[in-house]
Amino acid sequence: MARIVLKFGGTSVGDTDRIKNVARKVKGEVDRGNEVAVVVSAMSGATNQLVKWVNDIAPLHDAREYDVVVATGEQVTIGLLALALQQLDVNSRSYTSWQIPIKTDAAFGKARIQDIDTGAMVRRMQEGEVPIVPGFQGVAPDGRITTLGRGGSDTSAVALAAALKADRCDIYTDVDGVYTTDPRIVEKAQKIDRVTYEEMLEMASQGSKVLQTRSVELAMNHHVRVQVLSSFDEALGSDLPGTLVVDEEEIMAQGLEKSVVSGIAFAKDEAKITVTHVPDRPGVAAAIFGPLAEANINVDMIVQNVSIDGSSTDITFTVPRADLARAVERLEKAKTELKFAEAKADTNVAKISVIGVGMRSHAGVALKMFETLAAKGINIQVISTSEIKVSVLVSAEYTELAVRALHAAYELDAA
Ligand code: ASP
Ligand code: MG
Repeated sequence: MARIVLKFGGTSVGDTDRIKNVARKVKGEVDRGNEVAVVVSAMSGATNQLVKWVNDIAPLHDAREYDVVVATGEQVTIGLLALALQQLDVNSRSYTSWQIPIKTDAAFGKARIQDIDTGAMVRRMQEGEVPIVPGFQGVAPDGRITTLGRGGSDTSAVALAAALKADRCDIYTDVDGVYTTDPRIVEKAQKIDRVTYEEMLEMASQGSKVLQTRSVELAMNHHVRVQVLSSFDEALGSDLPGTLVVDEEEIMAQGLEKSVVSGIAFAKDEAKITVTHVPDRPGVAAAIFGPLAEANINVDMIVQNVSIDGSSTDITFTVPRADLARAVERLEKAKTELKFAEAKADTNVAKISVIGVGMRSHAGVALKMFETLAAKGINIQVISTSEIKVSVLVSAEYTELAVRALHAAYELDAA
């Protein structure tokens, strides 16, 4: 017997037939003798519709009322799923976030979970009840409803699994696992059976959209074993058909051969800024990046060129495309003090990343990346690395070509 948290995303509960399908899956796990708690998203499209209504009435709105509205999507699906389970003679009931309670901070619209009181829930689960919990919503210290930010129900599920000390958190979605890269770009992409938290974190933040980044962080910090799998396949989570996101030790302990590179990720939502003729003296980088940090703009990749004449240099970096206009505006404001020539923006870029924990112990991974791109005539504009990742910025039109070439070069193509 195991204790598992099952999470079903928007497409998995997209209509009443799908909700009945979800109920059969939950019953399957209960019939195997498992203790089960379920977290659901709103029906696909529901949250978008709620957000639209809010913006129609008040483009600049009170975040507390926004949360009251957008949190309702999940209240519909918890009730419907509890009913569908009762139809199958499974003892089930729904709980809203304030009934449990799922306590968050007061950052309305993007709240963080602080504590989940699972005492009552555990007792009921031990008596055979299946609690159905809304993803995405929580309750602030003052008692008002909060939401966790878009895609937040992955985080709700992992947090609940951590609080329940569950053996596993199965995230049911519309893909059957995590792939070595996007199968829409590389036909020979393969499903990964096991991936480490660190790799998944890099994949999530480097552009793979399977799990919300914050949920992976949470899973890593609390050692929650997460499985990504499809609700449209026959197999039950307990047969482990999906991708398991786990500690590196668990993978090693099973004697599984870990490839040096696990996946190739890409992101097209960044933009490049080059600040030219910046005076080459101490404090300049701080003067450029300070105003951006103040404006809450995340800078990702950075290169500073060597100064040719000893007096001025160029600094190139990337920011989220959505923040580009604000970033340029901030830089222009700092221009009188900084005395640079120009802040040039370029949105025609893509970031390609090669990810794998095996890089820690294998040399030459970055070199292979550079050689592979060179052989295709692809120019590298910016490079950044971490212990388990090498990222390059290239011209956007080379994205597909680069991803395919790298996927083959690191021998990730399916036979
Ligand atoms: N329903 C919320 C959203 O669409 C939360 C989620 O599905 O993860 O963002
Ligand atoms: Mg999601």
